Amino acid sequence: MGNKDYSVGQLMELGACTNCQACADICPAVSAAGDGELSAPFRMKGLKEILKGRTGLFRRILKKQGLSEEAWKHFSDTAFRCTLCGNCQGVCPVGIHLKELWLSLRQDLVHSGFYPKKINRIKENLEGNYNVFGEDNEERADWVEDMADEPEDGYIREKAGVVYFTGCTAAYFPIAQKIPMALAEVMDVSGVDFTLLGEEEWCCGFPMLGAGLMDIFQEFRDHNLRAVKEKGAREMVFACPSCYQMWREYYRPEGIHLFHASQFLIRLVKEGKVPLKELDMTVTYHDPCDLGRGARVYEEPRELIRALPGVKLMELPLNRQDCRCCGGGGNLEMVDAKLTAEIAKAKIDEILSTGAQAVVTSCQQCVRTMITFVKRNRISLEVLDITQLVHRALKR
Ligand code: SF4
Ligand code: SF4
Repeated sequence: MGNKDYSVGQLMELGACTNCQACADICPAVSAAGDGELSAPFRMKGLKEILKGRTGLFRRILKKQGLSEEAWKHFSDTAFRCTLCGNCQGVCPVGIHLKELWLSLRQDLVHSGFYPKKINRIKENLEGNYNVFGEDNEERADWVEDMADEPEDGYIREKAGVVYFTGCTAAYFPIAQKIPMALAEVMDVSGVDFTLLGEEEWCCGFPMLGAGLMDIFQEFRDHNLRAVKEKGAREMVFACPSCYQMWREYYRPEGIHLFHASQFLIRLVKEGKVPLKELDMTVTYHDPCDLGRGARVYEEPRELIRALPGVKLMELPLNRQDCRCCGGGGNLEMVDAKLTAEIAKAKIDEILSTGAQAVVTSCQQCVRTMITFVKRNRISLEVLDITQLVHRALKR
């Protein structure tokens, strides 16, 4: 436990906050919960107290013992009620790296023993089964069996030029399984030499990042890198922006190019490899936090949507770097499902204001969160991943 969870740069940045409240004004958690204690300035104030309470000199002179157990618990609760959307970081005029700070804070809270107990379950699932849901990892690619044209090899090949890393949500959640089915079929029809890793795919590590469990990440990283290298692949494709982010920032594999599905598919379309038919649809696009603000991938998904014959794109009022989170990030649903639903409501209201028939996004977690809200509330709105939209336009 301790201040070692923060870099020197992070500790210095804490003193730079001018308390302008710009981050609080745009925070989806603050506005959905109506609770200023979920804001970045409140969290930084609490963090400063924790850090000071641990500093020997400060403690000796003022006889400070740091926060009481109750205050720790309350502080931890507010720290985990955040979607890690990074919107606060994007608007901070003094450039404080708030999202990274929240990740370090969660790591600190886990080391200090003050964290939502559901995180213990995540850890057990990951350590026991290599996926965040505790499912049998041998079944990771079982969704292939539900495809209309199930390939004999189950898309698991000894060697291939491209590895499609599916991620836990797409592998196990029935709603999200339509995404890998769509992407695999589009790649197949387009003649891409690709493989899945099957049971050799372990969680990418993103849930560990959000749960303050990065101490167990190394084994997963080593395993996944080895599994990809054994396939001899030179490219990897991800439909999940969180897996893509982990591989870009924490794996950095040498000699392997990493693509989000939207980038991979627009390349295939431009090369004339995807046979397309006309659709008649008006859609809007939701930028997933980890793909947009996280990886700055804003244009390729839009280019891809516009490249589909008969599809008209209408922008959301808040788009690109200003796009609001759907509520599904940061493991928030695990600690406060009601708050996730409140944030999703604001998102769906904004989408409905465009009059579009469907919302398209590029993330299995966004799809899952928005579909759950729309179904529960019987709202007439189609929610599609961009891979599903391309699949719908596929000429067979
Ligand atoms: S990451 Fe998003 S939810 Fe969390 S404090 Fe920042 S703006 Fe709010
Ligand atoms: S936007 Fe930056 S400077 Fe303003 S209150 Fe938030 S963290 Fe502090």
